[in-house]
Amino acid sequence: MSKAQTINPANGQTVAEYERIAISKAMEKVAMAKEAYNSWKEKSFAERSQLMHALADLFDASKEEYAELATTEMGKTIVQARKEIEKCAWVCRFYADNSESLLGKEMVGTEATKSYVTFQPMGVILAVMPWNFPFYQVIRFAAPALMAGNTGVLKHASNVQGSAFALEDAFIKAGFPKGIFTNLNIEANNVKDVIEDKNIAAVTLTGSDPAGRSVATIAGANLKKTVLELGGSDAYIVLDDADLEKATDLATLGRLQNNGQTCIAAKRFVVLDAVYDKFLELFTQKMRRAKMGDPMDESTYYGPMARLDLRDEIHGQVVKTIAQGGRLILGGTIPEGKGAYYPATILVDVQPGMEAFDNELFGPVASVIRATDENEAIALANNSQFGLGSGVITSNRERGEKVALQLEAGSSFVNRLVASDPRLPFGGIKNSGYGRELSGYGIREFVNIKSIWVD
Ligand code: NAP
Repeated sequence: MSKAQTINPANGQTVAEYERIAISKAMEKVAMAKEAYNSWKEKSFAERSQLMHALADLFDASKEEYAELATTEMGKTIVQARKEIEKCAWVCRFYADNSESLLGKEMVGTEATKSYVTFQPMGVILAVMPWNFPFYQVIRFAAPALMAGNTGVLKHASNVQGSAFALEDAFIKAGFPKGIFTNLNIEANNVKDVIEDKNIAAVTLTGSDPAGRSVATIAGANLKKTVLELGGSDAYIVLDDADLEKATDLATLGRLQNNGQTCIAAKRFVVLDAVYDKFLELFTQKMRRAKMGDPMDESTYYGPMARLDLRDEIHGQVVKTIAQGGRLILGGTIPEGKGAYYPATILVDVQPGMEAFDNELFGPVASVIRATDENEAIALANNSQFGLGSGVITSNRERGEKVALQLEAGSSFVNRLVASDPRLPFGGIKNSGYGRELSGYGIREFVNIKSIWVD
């Protein structure tokens, strides 16, 4: 049996090894999740809500422990890891408090004596999850899915198995019955067998688009619903009336938070000609000043990338972009020493057809793109296979909103970095996936929207 090995990307040291479970054992766990579902679906919202609140309280109480685990396994700064755990508690409380009304019966006026729509759980949902927010991504799926009456089985990313087991343990400690949330420590190539199992009702995947395509193909062949939250190459348009200090503060944070490894991170900055030079000067200064270092150090702005192979991959993308005519303004060199560090990097003269324009750069590398006017900026922003998030930076809110409405993306934020928020739907279009998480839209993804007619 193979092992999942977790490695601290800050120093290359092995953190732990987790023996994979055999696929037969995984199927037993899925069967247990199905059995648990049969009683869980009968529980009232109040009963489920009490447990979800207990889980939120546990996140608060164990914040430091979980944050340190996330930092150790994937390198995000401890400051940001704490925020991730706080967000888990927020999402748990949001669904604990709102699921009953979000899934309330909808009466419909027809010729029937009574007709309405009701939302019933589907069964066991398989969640295939990434490492970049090792706690939050899982909770973003699990809190609504479980509050709706489903149970969940998790195939987490191999490099964050400690976080996966900590989550399973957290559900048990919070009082959830066994089988409501289970970590399947399986390899990616066993996911097919799990999807095909009769006890799995639906699948959600957050990750890269190749993984999404593979999982959706298998689920489709088995007529099982999928929600896909995939990659992005979010464009931020900086208009000619923007406050450039603010714009470059946002750009620096947007590109470097979570060590540059956020699906909705600002990746392509499309800047109007009139402010391009000043934007680039300020942005370069701020990116240069941002402190890279030990993610456990409270003063570190960004830490290492999550794995050496990912660091090497992004470096290859930078080199390729330069070979295609992009120009390197900052960074772009692998530092000496241990760890998967990659410096804040800026590429300019980036155009459609180049690696940094066409594909996702999942690390601390920004592309700055010049646009002659607003229309060209919108066209450049939309010239992407992805459509996850997008932004507009301007001193004119109305103008910003008009531009935001024209951007092809699941979210467009004016004067703020795109962030997921349980009150708003979250998801993408084009190759960024389909379906929505969070809000009422998210909780209705894994339910049977059922019509009742009483004549
Ligand atoms: P990834 O390589 O696609 O892995 C994601 C998960 O899928 C992991 O659990 C992985 O398992 C599994 N997996 C990989 N290939 C698979 C396959 N063929 N069949 C079944 N499972 C498979 O992505 P990642 O590197 O962890 O995450 C980075 C990507 O996720 C980026 O593209 C990012 O933009 C995207 N992302 C999107 C969102 C969103 O909400 N839209 C949020 C976060 C991240 P192993 O670890 O065992 O390989």
